Amino acid sequence: MPFLSEATSKLKYVRDRITERAVRALPVSTLNVTCIRPIVSFTFDDVPDTAHSAGAKILEDNGVRGTFYIAGGLLGKKEPDRDLISAEGCQLLSQSGHEIGCHTFAHKAVRTLSGEELRHDFDRNAEVLDSFDLSIGRRNFAYPYNQGSLRHRQAFAKRYTTARGGGDRINRGLVNRSYLWGMEIRQPESDALSLVRQIDAVVAQPGWLIFFAHDISRKPTPYGCTPDTFSVLVRYAVSKGCLVLPVRDALQHIQE
Ligand SMILES: [Zn+2]
Repeated sequence: MPFLSEATSKLKYVRDRITERAVRALPVSTLNVTCIRPIVSFTFDDVPDTAHSAGAKILEDNGVRGTFYIAGGLLGKKEPDRDLISAEGCQLLSQSGHEIGCHTFAHKAVRTLSGEELRHDFDRNAEVLDSFDLSIGRRNFAYPYNQGSLRHRQAFAKRYTTARGGGDRINRGLVNRSYLWGMEIRQPESDALSLVRQIDAVVAQPGWLIFFAHDISRKPTPYGCTPDTFSVLVRYAVSKGCLVLPVRDALQHIQE
């Protein structure tokens, strides 16, 4: 029944859009992004092993660091088109000064979980992440599939310093601290490369541009890009005078 499945997926899309708008429109806590210098954060979700071997390396070669949102349940997994980072990889990232953020343990859309399931998931992932670094205070969070939850929004505001979604916009002025805008670096490669224009935009009118990516590979998945393109974006942000910082450190500049 192709018609029914098309209708169902359209309904799901509409429901997700309405939820996203509602979550953004009803912040539990806000963040006023007023910065003199433009800030760019490079973040990774899940995290594929190439985000470490290629992505982190490019950041380090440019003297900057990123944020890696880890889902404990994905560690060491082998999927058809990608391998996920190992626990050792996470430790190395942390030792190199990168930030380890939370991406839930089970990597499920958070709105599908009950309050108790969510708390259990938070605790389970905290145990994993704390074995990589004993984060002082609260961590930063990124929503699996960029999907927030209206009924759980208090839980994210309480537990995490920030939570990031998608939306492909720059954070400026008053934003939802628990649903920050994220800009995806993904295929096609020409689109990924064209994101230099977004760096121009944040330089022209300072704000906080949070990129997120997945694999950094010569043959990227639809959700990744090549090392060459990633390198162009990082070098461009640095050369344009942006503060290129992990989310943890960007917040200190925004809150000064
Ligand atoms: Zn994810």
